[in-house]
Amino acid sequence: MTDATPSGTYVHDGAPSASKVVLVTGASSGIGAATALRLAGKGHRVVLGARRRDRLDSLVTRIRGAGGVAQARELDVTNPANMRAVVDNAVEEHGRLDVLVANAGVMLLSRLDALLLDEWQRMVQVNVLGLLHGVAAALPYFQRQESGHFVTIASIGAHQVVGTSAVYSATKYAAWAVTEGLRLELDPRIRVTTVSPGVVESELADHITDPYAQELMRTYRRASIPPDTVASAVQYALDQPPEVDINEIILRPAAQR
Ligand code: NDP
Repeated sequence: MTDATPSGTYVHDGAPSASKVVLVTGASSGIGAATALRLAGKGHRVVLGARRRDRLDSLVTRIRGAGGVAQARELDVTNPANMRAVVDNAVEEHGRLDVLVANAGVMLLSRLDALLLDEWQRMVQVNVLGLLHGVAAALPYFQRQESGHFVTIASIGAHQVVGTSAVYSATKYAAWAVTEGLRLELDPRIRVTTVSPGVVESELADHITDPYAQELMRTYRRASIPPDTVASAVQYALDQPPEVDINEIILRPAAQR
């Protein structure tokens, strides 16, 4: 298992013109951790949610040590009550919630004929229902505030299916569709962004159990980009003036085909 928590010097740049309250799900590693670190470094107040509390605590210590504002919250996105409690708590703590970065996800690749039903269910629970639980928890606050920003970390898998990715891609197509539905249906003062990365260095592929998919990933994931590249795309979407909504960003390693 590789620890893909971003390392290196963490710089706190101070408060941006509008400091936002941002909840990042799946913030204990990879893209979520990088996003929390980057946004906190830009002066946003971040709430980090995930199941691995120890990882969250060390990220929070790092952010606070550099002068940032952050809280760690144990969060299983498959549990709607847990999701609601974390969102409610963020609003109690900060008086509002400005951004939900729905990032928590699992990628348990296998061929369909491997019939790994438990893993199919897991991906639907985390990647689709987990996203919907976040929407259900945050939307009433966004509507009351007449502002807010849903950022969904989908995937290049929301645009293409490769052998072994059928169910994972199905969950990411669904995440794309839910996010597009929010864009169409909601008050335009609530912004909606889908970020669809290609291969990013993280722990994501470490959880694959199917030997065929594991082998395939060794080649497929050879070219990758750092998680902070995705975090900077999230920051770009947040930084736009209120009348500008960055609907989707697709980014991938230049060498990825
Ligand atoms: P990681 O495996 O490093 O991170 C996944 C995160 O999701 C972890 O923080 C994990 O935290 C969290 N998570 C998993 N299950 C749950 C759950 N039930 N409740 C709450 N949190 C959960 O991978 P990445 O950073 O790469 O993945 C982040 C997102 O980016 C995913 O949605 C993934 O599909 C997407 N993505 C990644 C790509 C890549 O190549 N890395 C490419 C395209 C998209 P914990 O286990 O502590 O709960």
